[in-house]
Amino acid sequence: MKKYDIPEYVLQILSRLKGAGFEAYIVGGPVRDLLLGRAPLDWDIATSALPSEISPLFERTIETGIRHGTVTVLSEGGRAEVTTFRKESSYSDLRHPDEVIFVSDLRQDLMRRDFTINAMAMTPEGRVIDYFGGGADLERGLVRCVGDPVTRFGEDALRMLRALRFKAVLGFEVEARTLEALKDCSHLALALSAERVRDELVKILLSGSPETLESAIEYGLLNAYLKPGVVNLDGLSGLCAGEHARLCALCFLLEKRGLIESPESFLRGLRFSGAAVSLVKSAASILKSGFPNDEKGVKRILAALGREAVSLASEASFGEDAARLLESVLSSGECWSIKQLKINGSDLENIGLRGVQVGTALSALLEHVIEHPLDNERNILLNMAKNQLNITLT
Ligand code: ATP
Ligand code: MG
Repeated sequence: MKKYDIPEYVLQILSRLKGAGFEAYIVGGPVRDLLLGRAPLDWDIATSALPSEISPLFERTIETGIRHGTVTVLSEGGRAEVTTFRKESSYSDLRHPDEVIFVSDLRQDLMRRDFTINAMAMTPEGRVIDYFGGGADLERGLVRCVGDPVTRFGEDALRMLRALRFKAVLGFEVEARTLEALKDCSHLALALSAERVRDELVKILLSGSPETLESAIEYGLLNAYLKPGVVNLDGLSGLCAGEHARLCALCFLLEKRGLIESPESFLRGLRFSGAAVSLVKSAASILKSGFPNDEKGVKRILAALGREAVSLASEASFGEDAARLLESVLSSGECWSIKQLKINGSDLENIGLRGVQVGTALSALLEHVIEHPLDNERNILLNMAKNQLNITLT
């Protein structure tokens, strides 16, 4: 039997469950990842023990989703989600199973899982239990529903986005019948909650093949958030894999193609946080007007939108010059903000400016210093303010 790299603490959890007379297996994502030679992100264990029987076996547990049969076991080495074998009955709202029915055998638990590659179990010794041909699909690089794809997408429409997510993350193809069903059932995605859609969208966006979102759009899976259409997202994979940078570039491309009203409306619809919306929106506005191609231009957008937004726009910009220009402005130490001016509001009050005049004068001085970096000297600026040289005060 092939040896897999299963952490000691996971083996201990399995052995504790088995020692108490229950069945216990690693299931789903980690089995898939171990077979692919990838490091699992999290460890899921399925067991015949009921939640009330799981908790007493371990010192530290969190009853994560006790109604769904999930207990998180915490140990020195890390955490694992331990879930009672279960099947889900029906999905009348297309989002959540109406009730969870605990079952006694592993096969039924694996049968409720979305794709064959996610429906395998592994014993602590490394024996793989594969009822649905997941191993063969892993080798062929196929995302295939367990059972009839139309039925499975009808139960939970999120599976359609998950299919594209695994395609994007693993570099797989969606198997022909599964793909046909996906196209036929895509309207069901309209009923999904924005949060679930957003989470899958971000995973696709951060994968090695973010352009997979083109298919999600083309098949209509995102029709609740954008207009139907076609867009070329080839450029995305060349950008750094930062969530905000790729989101910004995505918004820019969607807006350019006329598929969204604005980055703000799109991101709000998908329930991104207020902070993310405002940052990405500012950065996307820079891409829309074109990232400046000289240092003065970069200073002006820094002054107007702040360092974070400009830095994001440079990461999301398809040309290489943006990052280089920004770096050169930032490392020059030259002034691009009112804070960096060698005089401040009190200095201006001392020479007699009042209220709104102070702000107007500071902005005008900043504009001057951006044009003439060497003039950022206290005396020069004070004199300019005094003489109102080249500055229009209101
Ligand atoms: P990741 O590496 O991103 O965590 P994962 O396969 O572990 O991938 P999860 O969303 O953590 O994905 O789900 C864990 C497992 O639960 C999946 O491998 C799959 O077996 C099952 N699963 C998750 N979501 C669904 C769903 N919507 N329908 C059916 N089975 C699902
Ligand atoms: Mg997981």
